[in-house]
Amino acid sequence: MTAQIIDGKAVAANVRAEVGKAVAERVAAGKSRPGLATVLVGDDPASHVYVSSKRKACAELGIESFGFELPADATQDKVEGLVSELNADPRVHGILVQLPLPSHLDEEKVLRAISIEKDVDGFHPINIGRLAQKGRDPLFVPCTPAGSLVLAQTVIPKLEGCNAVVLGRSNIVGMPVALLLVRANATVTICHSRTKDLPSVVRQADVLIAAVGRPNMVKGSWVKPGAVVIDVGINRIEDPTHPKGSRLVGDVDFEEVKEVAGAITPVPGGVGPMTIAMLMQNTLRGAELSDK
Ligand code: NDP
Repeated sequence: MTAQIIDGKAVAANVRAEVGKAVAERVAAGKSRPGLATVLVGDDPASHVYVSSKRKACAELGIESFGFELPADATQDKVEGLVSELNADPRVHGILVQLPLPSHLDEEKVLRAISIEKDVDGFHPINIGRLAQKGRDPLFVPCTPAGSLVLAQTVIPKLEGCNAVVLGRSNIVGMPVALLLVRANATVTICHSRTKDLPSVVRQADVLIAAVGRPNMVKGSWVKPGAVVIDVGINRIEDPTHPKGSRLVGDVDFEEVKEVAGAITPVPGGVGPMTIAMLMQNTLRGAELSDK
């Protein structure tokens, strides 16, 4: 039996509709309109595309967006100066500094400069630290990890007691996903480039989250029958049969794994749409925090 395909677009559309409704209600009640500031440094084409889709989503949901673009040679002081202005701006409830930053900038220092009350990407070390601590709650949870959990929970609402395997330990996906799974009381194994015998570790997973950035790496024979597979990877591969000459694939070999898994996210149309939906939800939360 082939796997259930988890429709990330549909789940994301529901999240966005709920956020749009909540925005309209709070504005009608005389509260502030949520506002997101995006900070783009340099001219990485992919970053431009991401920022413009985020601003488009804001416009659709009645969220105000403020776009800031700095040149690729912007200094650390310049970027941090902009962040402090945005921290002080009452129209801004969320500050998103698009990563990666040009290599001369100290990314951690920039992220640390963002007020934790406006840290809608959830990457401030205090928010990440709280995510890792028992009995503490972050103000914001990183968007792609949060979206990945929401998709897994459409199939297994209670992840408690599940064996979860996370492929990847990056600051922006693998590690926060693993922390969220621990908070959901799953038993979590984190794999990375030094893990020995990856297929046999992955085969233990009731829930597998793949975030390695290696096209089609996870094969059907690696997956436990019936497992829930969330594919975070976005990789462009050459495909002469495709009109563009290339296409997007995940970290999971979809064609093979869908024959073994119980449920799987497609690429595109899985985790990707969730990232922006969760960012919109976090921006609304930023506005709600400012009410207090
Ligand atoms: P990184 O490159 O920062 O991290 C990759 C992780 O995978 C590292 O922990 C690395 O291990 C591990 N890894 C790499 N190769 C192997 C291997 N052969 N075996 C086992 N582990 C390996 O990537 P990101 O976390 O930023 O992104 C991962 C994927 O998710 C990418 O395809 C990216 O495009 C996608 N992505 C998708 C988003 C979305 O919205 N859907 C958002 C963000 C990312 P080590 O730590 O040892 O180096």
